[in-house]
Amino acid sequence: MFKKILIANRGEIALRVIRTCKEMGIKTVAVYSQADVDAMHVRMADESVCIGPAESTKSYLSIPSIISACEITGSEAVHPGYGFLSENANFAEILADHGIKFIGPSVSHINTMGDKINAKAQMETFNVPCVPGSNGEVKNVSDAHIAAKQIGFPVLLKAAAGGGGIGMKIVSSDDQLETLFLQAKSEAKKSFNDDTIYMEKYLEKPRHIEIQIFGDGKGKAVHLGERDCSLQRRHQKVLEETPSPGVTPDEVNKIGEICSDAVSKMKYEGAGTIEFLYENREFFFIEMNTRLQVEHPITEAVFGVDLVKEQIRVASGMDMALSQETLKPQGHAIECRINAERLPSFSPSPGNIKEFHSPGGIGIRMDSAIYNGFKVPPFYDSLIGKLIVHADSRSLALRRLSRALDELIIDGVHTTVDLFKEIIDEEDFKNGEYNIHWLEHWLSDKVQ
Ligand code: ADP
Repeated sequence: MFKKILIANRGEIALRVIRTCKEMGIKTVAVYSQADVDAMHVRMADESVCIGPAESTKSYLSIPSIISACEITGSEAVHPGYGFLSENANFAEILADHGIKFIGPSVSHINTMGDKINAKAQMETFNVPCVPGSNGEVKNVSDAHIAAKQIGFPVLLKAAAGGGGIGMKIVSSDDQLETLFLQAKSEAKKSFNDDTIYMEKYLEKPRHIEIQIFGDGKGKAVHLGERDCSLQRRHQKVLEETPSPGVTPDEVNKIGEICSDAVSKMKYEGAGTIEFLYENREFFFIEMNTRLQVEHPITEAVFGVDLVKEQIRVASGMDMALSQETLKPQGHAIECRINAERLPSFSPSPGNIKEFHSPGGIGIRMDSAIYNGFKVPPFYDSLIGKLIVHADSRSLALRRLSRALDELIIDGVHTTVDLFKEIIDEEDFKNGEYNIHWLEHWLSDKVQ
């Protein structure tokens, strides 16, 4: 087992990884930017190294600075968390060249899944059902017209290197195609330095259902059920729950087996998520994330598994402790992403936390790195905490969530806490009747 791990991240996820390391008796190294001198992950780690100024390109995304921090501290492995360098194959490769273990899948798996066209092609070979779409890249406007005609409008243009919904364009008719295609290409070039575009059928009322998988890198693999992440704003997840109120356990088991089978054949190592859209009782693969997801705690809650511990075990060469026969989900879990944002615009609201009180009691988990007097910096994403509840049933989980939200106090910055209080009071939400568009429609109805 590793003696010392460096966590190449910040905020709640850095703290979350440090917690597991401490429980495993592993020493931790935090890295931080000059804006995070007073951050909780720095306080909680055994050692810490400043890796640069506030801008993430010069600190949390600076591969040379992180490698130097590993060398100075004698760290044997790096946990990348999510975001930043977590899906950067180049980073994993450079770590390997320095004899440092990247806690995550192989460079080739990160590379394949990082290109969504390759990812789809790979998944098709394992009989994973995919969204109907173009056969690979759509190179120019005339190819776009041909592909759209074959697929049928509405279609969605997507960036092969995409993430965060950037470069995605819904096209409902032929006359919009040229303009939107060129826009998608230039957005993709600007954000990812890669303007490869492909096309999918635009599904009009799907749910976003994803399957958590885990592999030992040698061919053993399991799935840990689904997460329903349909509650989204601008293609970004806002609230997640498991089990999904819209999918049956049988359906989950079937798609789960297809996923674990694919992961086993790939000899995939560590945690990963296979994302699907689900419409008319059918699953359609959209992408695979080769890292821990923000919403992993709801899976941990229902399965009673510490996914970070499993990641570290497997990365250190130990056998995987998980087996499909013993993985049995219990009850229902919901996560709310608490952002420092001002409603209704959702504009970032950095600043001083004047008061923070975390809810407690049975079935509550608050993953956050804020504290009284902490200054939320303006340089990073606005997630300041995740409230996770777990109870025996969905209705009990909703009641627990309601009382936990009432108990949660965050003063000094604007937050999305009140939004959740309203959402869970809505009949559609209570009945589990929502798809990926529900939240946007509900928000725009509220403004009118
Ligand atoms: P990103 O990596 O940019 O987040 P994804 O492929 O994961 O992109 O898709 C993000 C979200 O965009 C999905 O959860 C869904 O809401 C929407 N989306 C993606 N593909 C489609 C599609 N073919 N039809 C309808 N919505 C889609």
